[in-house]
Amino acid sequence: MIVFDLSCDNGHRFEGWFRSSAAFAEQDERGQLMCPHCGTSTVGKAPMAPAVPAKGNHSRPTGQAVEAARGEPSSQQGGAIPPALQDAMQKLAKLQAETIKHSTYVGDRFAEESRAMHYGEKDAALIHGKADAKEARALLDEGIALAPLLVPYTPPDEAN
Ligand SMILES: [Zn+2]
Repeated sequence: MIVFDLSCDNGHRFEGWFRSSAAFAEQDERGQLMCPHCGTSTVGKAPMAPAVPAKGNHSRPTGQAVEAARGEPSSQQGGAIPPALQDAMQKLAKLQAETIKHSTYVGDRFAEESRAMHYGEKDAALIHGKADAKEARALLDEGIALAPLLVPYTPPDEAN
């Protein structure tokens, strides 16, 4: 294991653990590195501080280039998701849940409702619902702002 001090183009510094410096280079090249603070993938090596992991007493699956050296092992993913990314995902999930609390689920009427608000037929409100790629594209073309939900979400009408 090797640790690199990484920094993103927004000036955040964080640690990345890699199996080897080649594993780092490979992920860097594929754009798979991500800043845990702001999520940008414009990440590079900060001036390096070599270190050895404090705990070397349990081995993890080696199928993935990135292995978790800190944080809870993920039983579901077999440790495939770097802890920084897990953190980011959890924050995202929490943020999304918070947002949705103040948002009205409109299901299949998402496109319709978005347009009504955009054209002033309805008061603007936070909504979430379903739109297929074509609808989403059409809304964007009309200048209507929308964003995909980033973590899996079960619509109330499909929850059991
Ligand atoms: Zn950042």
